[in-house]
Amino acid sequence: EGVWRLSKLAVSVHNDPGKDFLEVHDGLLQEIAKVLKFPVASMLPPEAFSIVRKSFDARKMLKEPKFVYTVDMDVSKLLTLEPRTWDFISRLEPKLGLVDHMPCERVCCDLFSMIRKHKRNNDCTSSGGQEEKISSSSGYLYKLSTIRKPKIAVVGAGPSGLFASLVLAEFGADVTLIERGQAVEQRGRDIGALVVRRILESESNFCFGEGGAGAWSDGKLVTRIGRNSDSVLAIMNTLVHFGAPKKILVDGKPHLGTDRLIPLLRNFRQHLQTLGVTIMFGKRVDDLLIQDGCVVGVRASDSRDKLKLGCHTLEFDAVILAVGHSARDIYQMLLAHNMDLIPKDFAVGLRVEHPQDLINSIQYSGLANEVRSGRGKVPVADYKVAQYGIDEHENSTCKLVTSNRSCYSFCMCPGGQVVLTSTNPSELCINGMSFSRRSSRWANAALVVTVSTKDFDALNFHGPLAGVEFQREFEQRAAMMGGGNFVVPVQTVSDFMESKLSVTSLPPSSYRLGVKAASLHQLFPSYMTDALRHSISMFDRELPGFISKEALLHGVETRTSSPIQIPRRSDTYESISLRGLYPTGEGAGYAGGIVSAAVDGMHTGFVVAKQFDLFHGDI
Ligand code: FAD
Repeated sequence: EGVWRLSKLAVSVHNDPGKDFLEVHDGLLQEIAKVLKFPVASMLPPEAFSIVRKSFDARKMLKEPKFVYTVDMDVSKLLTLEPRTWDFISRLEPKLGLVDHMPCERVCCDLFSMIRKHKRNNDCTSSGGQEEKISSSSGYLYKLSTIRKPKIAVVGAGPSGLFASLVLAEFGADVTLIERGQAVEQRGRDIGALVVRRILESESNFCFGEGGAGAWSDGKLVTRIGRNSDSVLAIMNTLVHFGAPKKILVDGKPHLGTDRLIPLLRNFRQHLQTLGVTIMFGKRVDDLLIQDGCVVGVRASDSRDKLKLGCHTLEFDAVILAVGHSARDIYQMLLAHNMDLIPKDFAVGLRVEHPQDLINSIQYSGLANEVRSGRGKVPVADYKVAQYGIDEHENSTCKLVTSNRSCYSFCMCPGGQVVLTSTNPSELCINGMSFSRRSSRWANAALVVTVSTKDFDALNFHGPLAGVEFQREFEQRAAMMGGGNFVVPVQTVSDFMESKLSVTSLPPSSYRLGVKAASLHQLFPSYMTDALRHSISMFDRELPGFISKEALLHGVETRTSSPIQIPRRSDTYESISLRGLYPTGEGAGYAGGIVSAAVDGMHTGFVVAKQFDLFHGDI
């Protein structure tokens, strides 16, 4: 009885209809039959099986690339089988690792039903204002009487801010979402002006605006926080609710692409507005209003008003800070309020770009022509490479030591393009994006080396914002090397390995604002260049052809994750320095990537709803 999960069902490429086909097909039924030791595959009713995950596995140790499935088998739907067959099925024994009985009911991973189940029927209104001060576990909560909704500000409309707003608004809070950048329609025009006319709008760009840093991105939805966790599934289901294709629920490496993210964000916004959320675009929070150690509101100004002339104050019961890690002015402001900020390790490096055809042939050999610009049977090839505990030369003793430093590929965008993610014209940093079909001629990925406070100290950057200064240093050096006007300094991988300027003609780059040959091997301290070189030579062993004159390194990739953490209480998510402030998402150091930021925002929404007594139940 019940549901059985069958995993590691490998179907060869010629027996599979291809990456976009997510129904049960004959090739898959044959593999299911093999695992079940069931003699006649064609007798298995397809309706008894549902695909949970479909991935493409092209690892070198396999004889040939395969599609790998996880499938749920609903035993009750096998009842249509003739009695002898049914008898066979009913005697099945679980084979660990391949067949697993799913003992409990499938958990509800739908955010909206979760909220409906736990919503307290308070019947709040936004008028009135009686408050009753109560003591709580944290000792300083104000319980608002049922005649007034709690007024919550969410600062930042990236994944974390959007999900925090959604949860709180669904629970009936009076939410104001404040975003310094523009709505996606205007943001698209601002990004167009940047790419075509080199006009960088410092408040509306690849980092700032509706959808946050993840909007004009590859939209990869892979996460290291547990693909099958209820929280991640709740996020994925919500994305589907707002227009993402259902295949993200099944795809082993789900991604959306910028073209799908934009309409999704518009639907998300419309839903928030229907719930009564006040959304302010082009409004930047410059300061917090603090009374008796508690945040009681924000000071905000029109983000295009550089002189902050039109600054005004807005009062709130709580402020969720979901500003991402490019809002360096916010870190400064928090420091000015004597808040605790902890410097954090992160990673810095270069973005490498290869022709996509080269990566396809390295990864797929004979199958490479099945890719056909993203429309083919197999997905456009990607890669993930890493080197840990890299040997380092220690100056004082002249001996090799193994350090904790790592070098790894990050945010790989097959069929994508390199884009400018600077928010200030004197700094140059880049990242990667793609469209849903991933059909460009290039494959790019960051190659980054871990850095820590001892590296910041070595450059004389001290204190909580040392990591930010470290980032800025290399962004400014890269801008100088490029010669200004957002031109990116580049070097072929072969020349980087030999410390040579790429003087002969450069291979083409997807980066639209121009590239210039530069000595990238001189950009970073030698320990970083050495770590990159050593790792690249190891990556070339794994992916022969990775070192190539056709591969171009672009400088510089600095904003891989937050350089600081804003400490918060583990139970209430409230800042340990300021009551009423809830640091959330990547900028606060609690997430890295679209999905984990969304999960953190969702959890913040729940804990804040609980503190304002809008929600009963466990989180
Ligand atoms: P953010 O998305 O950074 O959002 C913060 C928001 O706060 C911004 O919109 C900003 O304008 C706003 N803000 C900042 N300061 C203020 C202020 N003072 N007042 C008002 N508003 C403010 N991750 C993936 O998982 N997959 C990918 O494929 C991927 N590709 C990427 C490609 C690019 C080009 C970039 C830049 C990032 C990419 N990332 C990707 C990383 C991902 O975008 C982030 O991890 C994620 O967006 C973090 O979410 P967040 O909500 O914490 O912060």
